[in-house]
Amino acid sequence: MKAITLLSSGLDSVAALAIAAESLEIEMAITFDYGQRAGQREMEYSEKVCEHFGIEQRIIKLDWLGEITHTSLVNRDEEVPSLSFEDIDENSPSMITEYSAKAVWVPNRNGVMLNIAGSFAESRGCDYIVVGFNGEEAGTFPDNSRDYIQTVDNAFSYSTQNGVKVLAPLAEMGKTEIVKKALEAEAPLEYSWSCYHGGEIPCGKCESCVRRARAFKNIGIKDPLLERLGI
Ligand SMILES: [Zn+2]
Repeated sequence: MKAITLLSSGLDSVAALAIAAESLEIEMAITFDYGQRAGQREMEYSEKVCEHFGIEQRIIKLDWLGEITHTSLVNRDEEVPSLSFEDIDENSPSMITEYSAKAVWVPNRNGVMLNIAGSFAESRGCDYIVVGFNGEEAGTFPDNSRDYIQTVDNAFSYSTQNGVKVLAPLAEMGKTEIVKKALEAEAPLEYSWSCYHGGEIPCGKCESCVRRARAFKNIGIKDPLLERLGI
């Protein structure tokens, strides 16, 4: 069985790739450049991840998607929200996660990426598209949910001749479990970049940084990325 993987170099996509690579032949990774703040880091890190797994990488530019995106993930005039561990506590839901999700939303991003990957998967005779969609983010991002994955599978059963399917090994997992599984699968987390910003080091304050930090704190080990960067 062969698969195409969507690779942003974030914790989730690197973990999903490492887990999928244990049982599938990974034909290629696709990384999208839509003018996101962290784009340069994501290209640099995802290249390292592809080298680690010895897989071909294709970088696809989506300039138009950046142009029509007004939120802070792309638009440098808008501020990326800063969060704390308390803000992401599921036991006392805060409106700030909803606000944060809206602030980094890119119009139909996962829909666009999956459909592009679907064309590559069909043309390369691949059965699956591996994605890092996960249970923790499905709470605030509906395009990470099981319902969405099933709906895309259903659409692919009409739009691809080989019935490409979305494979989301993290769909039921929170970040702590994702880190555990990633470590078991020996994922190169020292080259995964989760921060919404593209600085030399992760900001430690955006929602993505905070969720990642909490996961490593829960497990009680140092993040291999921070270790490598000497932070
Ligand atoms: Zn950050």
